Amino acid sequence: PRILALESSCDETACAVVEGLFVRASVVASQVELHAQFGGVVPELASRHHLTAAVPVVREALARAGVGFEWFDAIGVTEGPGLVGALLVAVQLARGLSLATGLPLVGVHHMEGHLVSPFLGDADAPPAEFAPHLALSVSGGHSELVHVQALGRYEVLGSTRDDAAGEAFDKAAKLLGLGYPGGPVIDRLAAEGDPTAVPFPRAMLGSRDNLEFSFSGLKTAVAVYVDQHGQPSSRQALADVCASFQAAVVSVLVAKLRVARRRVGTSLVTIVGGVSANRGLRAALAEAASRDGFVLRAPPLRYCGDNAAMIGGAAALRWAAGLRREPPVEVYASLALDEGRARDG
Ligand code: ATP
Ligand code: MG
Ligand code: FE
Repeated sequence: PRILALESSCDETACAVVEGLFVRASVVASQVELHAQFGGVVPELASRHHLTAAVPVVREALARAGVGFEWFDAIGVTEGPGLVGALLVAVQLARGLSLATGLPLVGVHHMEGHLVSPFLGDADAPPAEFAPHLALSVSGGHSELVHVQALGRYEVLGSTRDDAAGEAFDKAAKLLGLGYPGGPVIDRLAAEGDPTAVPFPRAMLGSRDNLEFSFSGLKTAVAVYVDQHGQPSSRQALADVCASFQAAVVSVLVAKLRVARRRVGTSLVTIVGGVSANRGLRAALAEAASRDGFVLRAPPLRYCGDNAAMIGGAAALRWAAGLRREPPVEVYASLALDEGRARDG
């Protein structure tokens, strides 16, 4: 199926043109610089900027793909979870386009979009078949191990008790005076640092059976470190703190993922979400993959953070499987990944 996809759940206004899992165009207007001066996403500003960016990103995506509305089978849009005022912009635009063109709507769960992202293809790499797997979903708002049994059938094996992994990166960066968002900066600096320099805590590693995460203690440990030692005074000292922090996050994520994989017994593993861009995480997981004998799929960097291509891919799979979260398409601040099942069929 050919899908026009829209996404505005947080601070990226995005539109994509996909055919199945093949991406013909993906346009992302990021507001990250706007929110950086406030140290995080300001919901009201996000909504306003989605309003001005939404129509231009649709025009741009259609132009890049070289197609008009008559080319599509359906419109896919993120229903939640996210900021309600932000979500409303893409959903209302999708409703309007649906009325004007007669194209049906397919509502998509934002995290299902992330789960589909490693299987997307484009002119640079072919798509892969969406097969059962274990996913480590790590982003600004989520840290979850998900057993993906089929499209729409998700078992969340463990999630975070407090902060998400991306949130931990953002908060640590703030404490270290590195600005927002923190993930990319820490990732860069960590490459130059010594990961054993500071013994930051590895939370929840004690129990093998427990697949939950906790990152707020690590954030506190960074705060205590800065309190006792002051801001790192040299670039090397800063790099050492970043490398140590990143190693703490990565080692917990990898350890839990390995336990979860043994439990569900899948040979395919994915990492998705903004934090899946992290080079330290990718390297550690590649090593675990060769040690434990599983196949690791990670999305290309352009599909790690929020984008509409992944929403289009999920909508295409839903459309093809006859699973439509429709009608009516609504907005949800919080939305369980499994909830779709109750509304399917
Ligand atoms: P959610 O998907 O849970 O609703 P979100 O959409 O805001 O949240 P994403 O856009 O998927 O989250 O990811 C953003 C997060 O990814 C930020 O916290 C950012 O710091 C983090 N991030 C981005 N690049 C990297 C990186 N290279 N290393 C670590 N973290 C990163
Ligand atoms: Mg974002
Ligand atoms: Fe996201």
